[in-house]
Amino acid sequence: MQKFSSRRYFLKSVAIGSTALVMPSLTRCSPSSQSKPNVLVIFCDDLGFGDLGTFGHPTIRTPNLDRMAAKGQKWTSFYAAASVCTPSRAGLMTGRLPVRSGMCSDFRRVLFPDSANGLPQSEITIARALKTVGYNTACIGKWHLGHLPEFLPTSHGFDYYFGIPYSNDMDKIRSLSLEEQLDPKIENYNVPLMRNEKIIERPADQHTITKRYTEEAIKFIAEHKESPWFIYLAHTMVHIPLFASEKFRNTSRRGLFGDTVEEIDAGIGRILQTLVETGQEKNTMIVFTSDNGPWLPFREHSGSAGLLRDGKGTTWEGGMREPTIFYWPGKINPAVVPDIGSTLDLFATIVTLAGGAIPTDREMDSYDLAPALFENNKSPRNEMYYYRGQQLFAVRQGAYKAHFITMSEYQQDNKRQEHDPPLLFNLDVDPGENYECSAKVPDVVDTIKKLAEKHKSELIKGEDQLIARIQDAES
Ligand code: MG
Repeated sequence: MQKFSSRRYFLKSVAIGSTALVMPSLTRCSPSSQSKPNVLVIFCDDLGFGDLGTFGHPTIRTPNLDRMAAKGQKWTSFYAAASVCTPSRAGLMTGRLPVRSGMCSDFRRVLFPDSANGLPQSEITIARALKTVGYNTACIGKWHLGHLPEFLPTSHGFDYYFGIPYSNDMDKIRSLSLEEQLDPKIENYNVPLMRNEKIIERPADQHTITKRYTEEAIKFIAEHKESPWFIYLAHTMVHIPLFASEKFRNTSRRGLFGDTVEEIDAGIGRILQTLVETGQEKNTMIVFTSDNGPWLPFREHSGSAGLLRDGKGTTWEGGMREPTIFYWPGKINPAVVPDIGSTLDLFATIVTLAGGAIPTDREMDSYDLAPALFENNKSPRNEMYYYRGQQLFAVRQGAYKAHFITMSEYQQDNKRQEHDPPLLFNLDVDPGENYECSAKVPDVVDTIKKLAEKHKSELIKGEDQLIARIQDAES
């Protein structure tokens, strides 16, 4: 058994962690445990808006997700908190824009195996909020909010962790050509597989990673049927390098990418079956979404944003709008919802549903989506702030989105461009952001400009947690 050593960073963590001692208590009276719903959040990696059958892909078969979408709610304007892994996950976990927690950076876009920091202890995760109201909590899959002990899921409110702590293409044994990455070999990526704080396998056998995540989730569900649980099932796939287990390899008409999506879908089918068999289906809400859009440079190993523009790493719609499904038989009214929602809203939605408390000592960016989910009312969210690193690039209000700065990431032309007046698109009419329309509605431009200025003037940025490297701290 092997552990990551926190070395001297532990002292730093204690200093950060001490702020947690002055936080108000989250304890609150609540209904009995038995009446509380279970919550399963299934979070894919780099899955594009167009990569599910129910969202229009012509050759990827996702019968279980299709059924969940038909019997639940399919949200078509639902956004990740950022366009790359680490800040996106920080936003989901805390209900706060990652710029507030410092989990985004203008210098390093995500955490790496040499990163010295992670999600600060002063942040409150969904899991930590749910612990105060009696939930059993498990994180299964990719974490990417810090791999040193003080930043792992078990230090952030999760009772149990099983997974690869960062991206599955990290810890490369050497620089790999595009061709090598499109013909992935386990031994080229020395990534660890962890159970709680211990490394149990290295390199992780990624062929079976989706299967094992599914089995871990099923086990946790079956073992905790008498008391409420929260599972954050963050699949490592479909982030490249792509791997599928033997049963699924070469089975999809979409190639290896399709094999990995179809294996995830089949795993969801097994989880749904377990919920039925253990009598928990009527008391479990499932949310399915992804952390950011498709990673486009990897040819046919890349996903697709469908009709949306660009992909991962950008503040165009393809970077942050995700295929999203809410499912809870008998509770969620079936619908296709074009209103705005975000992974930022999962904190308030889930914690409120569980009878927990929303922190009042900090700025939150989380709306409780209950009116839309359970009463067929409009989504309470009417705006979205699109950040790249710590800079506000675009703002959406209602149907309109204004780009103040644009920059692609993996396209040939990735020059940073500032726009004054901003580029404006009507996303109801033009979800592909093809037809700039600011001249038609100057009042809308003014309104969104003022909204952006107000947001920026009131924002308190957190200290950059992504920039420090282990070797910097040791020198
Ligand atoms: Mg990702």
